[in-house]
Amino acid sequence: LILPSEDESVQATNDDATSSKKYAVDQGYWKDDYVQFFCRSAEKRTPEICRGYYARVLSIQKLLVKFLKLTSCDCHVINLGAGFDSTYWTMRDRGLTPRTYIDIDFPEVNKKKCQIIKKRKQLLEPLSKDSSHSATPTEISSTELHSAHYHVLSCDLRKVGELSKKLLDLGFDTNTPTFILSECVLVYMSSESSNPIIEWAGKTFSTAIWINYEPILPDDRFGRTMLSNLKYRGCALLGIDSCPDLTSQRQRFLNYGWSHSWALDMCQVYSLLPRDDVARIERLDFLDEKELLTQLLQHYTLSCGFKDTKGIGLERVSL
Ligand code: SAM
Repeated sequence: LILPSEDESVQATNDDATSSKKYAVDQGYWKDDYVQFFCRSAEKRTPEICRGYYARVLSIQKLLVKFLKLTSCDCHVINLGAGFDSTYWTMRDRGLTPRTYIDIDFPEVNKKKCQIIKKRKQLLEPLSKDSSHSATPTEISSTELHSAHYHVLSCDLRKVGELSKKLLDLGFDTNTPTFILSECVLVYMSSESSNPIIEWAGKTFSTAIWINYEPILPDDRFGRTMLSNLKYRGCALLGIDSCPDLTSQRQRFLNYGWSHSWALDMCQVYSLLPRDDVARIERLDFLDEKELLTQLLQHYTLSCGFKDTKGIGLERVSL
């Protein structure tokens, strides 16, 4: 029996996230015409899990849309540990294509992602259509993709020097407003590995906003069960002890070079989502025990750090 390495287990969390999103999309929780290409068949998920994903995806999309509109898309978006995330295509369909959109993950994950994109014209064709000068073709190597606006970049995020070099090699302009997303990623890294990225970004970008989503509260009964379930699948939540609650989530940004921060638990986030849409999705599945959903949502946070040297109004990028 060969057990997967720690890194392989972390990479496999992407399959779980993609499958959960596909299942929720199939049930009608939100619209995403592209997730189907990244996951053939999705296993059934409970209504609590679907509502949790709904709150996660909808809140992040809401913040991203506000940022893209605020900057009139003259901006960069960096998705750290993006996995098979399809947000680039869904935003593009809404007429919101940023100047540069970069999905970053391990080469092992990106290899599969590049193969899928290459095979599907629904994913591939929009990349070259985005090019204002048709002279920019899409280049796909085995683990990276580069097109006019969209990039898949391979990098181990624990190596911040490499990350920084790769972005600069792409011609990345650190004065352009930048949206950084880490969705269920930092928690798989020790604070010795994640803090340097937060600090590097806080120092490097003049005007930027970082949105982070991850589990919190490891110490009560529900949190301990959550942790042991993940350990069983070979993934340690290495980051949760250094940032276990809303206060430490906020403080981390302030400690590492960001001038403002906020953090909400996902119960609060859920209550801030548009009521009519929430009422619609609550009719999709019968939820027996509301208490379980509340507990689940309380154990995840959406936190944010921003610095607004240019004064573009980043405080308005809120829920
Ligand atoms: N952000 C995506 C989402 O929410 O659908 C995927 C989330 S998945 C739970 C975590 C992702 O982070 C995986 O794709 C994994 O490979 C990536 N990841 C974790 N640690 C990483 C590291 N050190 N370098 C690059 N990617 C990493």
